Amino acid sequence: MIDASQLRELCTRQLPALVAGCTCSPLQLAAWDSITLERWPADVQQVGTLRASGDEEPTFDEFHPQGTRYSSADAPIALGWFPYNRCDAYACGRCRSVFLRYTEYGGYYVDHRVRMVDPALIVEV
Ligand SMILES: [Zn+2]
Repeated sequence: MIDASQLRELCTRQLPALVAGCTCSPLQLAAWDSITLERWPADVQQVGTLRASGDEEPTFDEFHPQGTRYSSADAPIALGWFPYNRCDAYACGRCRSVFLRYTEYGGYYVDHRVRMVDPALIVEV
């Protein structure tokens, strides 16, 4: 499991000159969006999880003190709050960009959601 400081540290490894046009461009999303795993780039591999082991019922409460919403591009990345408490962390092997991914489970579908990590939005609550 990785914490906020480790997530920030991962982000410092990003190579900005390689981000534009990288194979991870389908994932370079400022806000949560759906992705089919067929489009998931092979260069992007899991590096850790934000899910607390043993917590079978993580909260669905969200953290938006500044009036943002789930879908806001500037919504805080609030570890321990929904949906970050369900996420795994991924990093691109080329440009080292960092992404979070979790799965929404509906009645008859699963929906994979991804968001690129902007370290300026990471908060510890
Ligand atoms: Zn990349």
